[in-house]
Amino acid sequence: MADDDKELLKRVARVLRQAADDFNAIAGEVERRVGANGIDARAAMERSCQGKRAYATAERAGAAAESRNVPGLRVYECPFCRQFHLTSRTLDAFAARP
Ligand SMILES: [Zn+2]
Repeated sequence: MADDDKELLKRVARVLRQAADDFNAIAGEVERRVGANGIDARAAMERSCQGKRAYATAERAGAAAESRNVPGLRVYECPFCRQFHLTSRTLDAFAARP
């Protein structure tokens, strides 16, 4: 394997490790808001899914996040479509809130 490929895979792995933590934070925030507002969780997930590019594998999503070169983009598995999305910057800020 070429060194460039190894370097890309290492960066993808870092993105994926971070993604698990971030997704848990986002899920927790969504649950909290669902409880507060009485909105349907599935509908909220569906809205979050729609209009987002879906990737068949976490690796592809990770590579896409890298290529966009936008700090803070994370990969997460979508509970609605079971594919992988990148967080928007809005969602990232959402997760960072205490
Ligand atoms: Zn989705």
